[in-house]
Amino acid sequence: MMPDKCLLIVLDGLGDRSHEVLDWQTPLQAAHTPHLDHLARNGANGLYHAGSLGEALPSETAHFAMFGYDRKDFPGRGPLEALGVGVDLARDEVAILAHFAALEERDGCLALVRDVPRADEEEVAALIRAVDKWEQDGIRIRYVPVKGVFGVLILSGEVSPDITDTGPMRDGRFLPDLLPLISKHSTTLDAENAVRARNTARVLRAYLLHTWDTLREHPLNDRRRGAGLSPITGLVTQRAGSLRPVPPFSRRFGLRGLSIASGAVFRGLARHLGLDWQAPRDTGDLAEDFARDLADVPEHFTRYDFIHLHTKAPDEAAHAKDPLLKKAVIEALDRALGTGKALLENPGLLVVVTADHSTPSSGNMIHSGEPVPLLFHGTGVRRDVVTRFDEIHAAQGCLGCVRGTELLRLILNHLDMARLEGVRDTPEDCLYWPGDYQPLPVRIPLSK
Ligand SMILES: [Zn+2]
Repeated sequence: MMPDKCLLIVLDGLGDRSHEVLDWQTPLQAAHTPHLDHLARNGANGLYHAGSLGEALPSETAHFAMFGYDRKDFPGRGPLEALGVGVDLARDEVAILAHFAALEERDGCLALVRDVPRADEEEVAALIRAVDKWEQDGIRIRYVPVKGVFGVLILSGEVSPDITDTGPMRDGRFLPDLLPLISKHSTTLDAENAVRARNTARVLRAYLLHTWDTLREHPLNDRRRGAGLSPITGLVTQRAGSLRPVPPFSRRFGLRGLSIASGAVFRGLARHLGLDWQAPRDTGDLAEDFARDLADVPEHFTRYDFIHLHTKAPDEAAHAKDPLLKKAVIEALDRALGTGKALLENPGLLVVVTADHSTPSSGNMIHSGEPVPLLFHGTGVRRDVVTRFDEIHAAQGCLGCVRGTELLRLILNHLDMARLEGVRDTPEDCLYWPGDYQPLPVRIPLSK
């Protein structure tokens, strides 16, 4: 019997490049990972890319595909974070990531001095109070805090998400100007949207200049200057979007799902897709926390068929640009996986281990476009020649290179639930079989 439940373990940003300090191996290749290797040896292996090879994806876009949804329906990170902090975003509103930053004027333009300045709770509260609302030409803007200096702007009125970012992400660079995106088509709808995008860009630019004018003069910054800290003088924005409805996960795939992943964006993504959500443990002891989250999984399976267990530790280690730290983090996670041996090696459970994207622990890139290793383990899963779980060995596996939404299709397949293409038992397009269909009654109801 094939398994009927799936545990998807996502080690965020696991994939990497080869580094001299690791004898030209990747951190995963160099790491001692007996438990992951054991699963690889008894399972099917391959590479995975949530988008197209070479494409550098952020976690939310990658996870959208990993959960089986098409890129064209992706709402943008702004709306997901808004949902994640409990905003009931309306369909015609726009949400944009925004955070307080240290800016300066250079050659008559705004430049980034420090992208994420340190500020305590009280300082952040004072900054927000100074600039949290704006209204101009029928467009309203409000700032909603997410965490620390990070927040989202909610725009209502005749607005469009099709505008450029202002956050350059690297200290020293100029802020890009706010401009409407160039539309690829010329339908009436697009013409209307182009007007909205132009107005949105103009009003948001005015608001950002207002935050610069207000915060530059703010007494809080006199104190900071006095203490030798960079003054926090503005907001920068990124990744605008608006919601578009998608069928909930359980209706599309026939699985009741739980996502265990930290941060507003994962909480928002779960809310958007109809997955239940829970925060992972975070006591500061990575191996212990991950082991305890794993130990809770059997209990969750009494209520769920699909569990997403996520840790962002490898990604964070890579962002610190420290290949040795990333190797150590991977080894700690492997030790934690060793404590869940009975669960992970139970053939009645489909275990899938992979990552959402690669994060290079050297160089200038934020994320990178190489594929990541992927393994499937459970009854009936093919066994290939791969004996180690890393980017290089995985390429010899029998799964080949899996991409995008194929991951969730493969999961349904290994749960014996994949719909034979063309079979229609429900009016709604869903990917599992048999669908949750309406039985044919013997008497025709009066209403038909
Ligand atoms: Zn990252």
